[in-house]
Amino acid sequence: MTNPEHTNPTNLVEHPRGAAPGKPGDRSAFGFETITRLPDAADGKGRGGARYGRTGILHTPHGDIHTPAFVPVATQAAMKAVLPETMRAEGAQCMLSNAFHLYERPGEDVLDAAGGLAKFMNWDGPTFTDSGGFQVLSLGAGFKKTLAMDVTGMKSDDVIADGKERLAFVDEDGVTFKSPLNGSLHRFSAEISMGIQHKIGADIMFAFDELTTLMNTRRYQEQSVERTYRWAQRCVAEHQRLTAERLGKPYQALYGVVQGANYEDLRRHAAEQIASLDFDGVGIGGAIEKRIIGDTCAWICDAMPESRPRHVLGIAAVDDIFACVENGGDTFDCVAPARCGRNGAIFTRDGRYNVKRAEFKTDFGPLEEGCDCYTCTHYSKAYVDHLLRAREFNGFTLATIHNEHFFIKLLDDIRESIDGGYFDEFRDATLARFYAHGSRG
Ligand SMILES: [Zn+2]
Repeated sequence: MTNPEHTNPTNLVEHPRGAAPGKPGDRSAFGFETITRLPDAADGKGRGGARYGRTGILHTPHGDIHTPAFVPVATQAAMKAVLPETMRAEGAQCMLSNAFHLYERPGEDVLDAAGGLAKFMNWDGPTFTDSGGFQVLSLGAGFKKTLAMDVTGMKSDDVIADGKERLAFVDEDGVTFKSPLNGSLHRFSAEISMGIQHKIGADIMFAFDELTTLMNTRRYQEQSVERTYRWAQRCVAEHQRLTAERLGKPYQALYGVVQGANYEDLRRHAAEQIASLDFDGVGIGGAIEKRIIGDTCAWICDAMPESRPRHVLGIAAVDDIFACVENGGDTFDCVAPARCGRNGAIFTRDGRYNVKRAEFKTDFGPLEEGCDCYTCTHYSKAYVDHLLRAREFNGFTLATIHNEHFFIKLLDDIRESIDGGYFDEFRDATLARFYAHGSRG
C-alpha cells in the first residue's frame, strides 16, 4: 500500500503554527508573554532600583521558548559534533544559525527547498538566523566574535588584524566582500540579507546592520548608527514585501539591531530609532565593554515596548549573562561553550578548567561532579582527556555536550530563580562560586 503522504509533494512541506496554503504567515503566531518581572533592586541603584529582568514565553511558529534562555549556535545548520536530538535531550529549546555561512554553503535555495532551516537540520523547534552582517564585516576588521572587548587607547576606523587581508568594504548601500571560501566577490545589503533569511526560513531573523568595533572613532560610530537605521528601515520594508509574497510559509519574526558601541547617548538614540520601526523584537549587538554591559541592556530597554523580546547577540561570559538577564535580556547566543569544549576547557559551577591537564590522566570521575548531562553520567575525565589528545571526534562530542548543558542549565536555573523570587541570592552565590578560583569565562 502506498502512503498518500509520500505521493503528494505538498505534504513534504510542514505547515507549522500560523502557516496556511495560499496565505501569508500569520504574525499572531509570534509573540512574547511576560511571566514574572524582577522586583526593584534593594540598593535603589540605577533607575531607582527598577530592573528590566523578567521571565516569559516567546511563542514562535515552531514552538515556545521559556525565557531567559540560552540559544546554542549551530553556525552551518549544525552544532559542531553534536546531533540536534542530543541537544534536545540536554534541554536546548532553540538554535541559531548564520545566514552568511548558509548563503555560501549550501545556498539559501537548498534550505528553502528543504522546507526551511529547522526541517533541513532535523531540529524540531524554534530557530534564529543572524543577518550575516557580523561575518561579512568581520572580514573587514578581522576581529573575533566577542561582545565585550577590552581595548584601551586604540582608535582607528581602519583597524585590521595583523596578517589579514581586508576582505570587506562598507558603503551607503551595503557591503562588498571577498568570499573566504574561494575569493569570489559578493555583495550584502538590507534587501539581500532579507531575501536570504526568508529563504532560510528561521522563526527569528535579524536586520542587516553595520557592526563597528570599540576601536572606531566616535564620529564613525555616529555615522554607522545612522546608516544602520537606514538599513533597518529598508529591512522592514523588504521583510513585509517578502512576507506578503511568500505564501504558505510560517511567519518569520524580524528583530532590529541596536548598535552604538559603548556610548550611552548613541545607544539610547539607536534604541529609539529601532523602537520606532515595526520590528517584532530587538537585538542588542556590537562591541560593548564588560563594565557597562548591563547598563547598555537597560538603556535599550528604556526605549523598547515591553512586548518586544530582546536578544543579546554573542554573549561571552557567565557574569555577563547575569548582568544582561538582570537588565532585560531574554535570549542569549554564545559560541564559547562549544569552541572552548573542543579545546578541552570545561565549564563547571566551580569555574572553568582544562581537562587536558596531566593530573586528569587517570581521573575516572565525571567532568563535573553532580552534573546530569549525558557525558557526565556515562564517561570519565580520563577518557575525554584521552579522546581530545588523540583528536578523536567523540572527544569534541562529549566535551561539547557537557558545556552546552552547563549553559542551558544555567539559564534554566536563572529562570527558576526569578520565578521563585530569589534571583539576587542565586546570582551572588553562583558568581562567587564560579569565580572563586579566578576562573575566566
Ligand atoms: Zn556534564
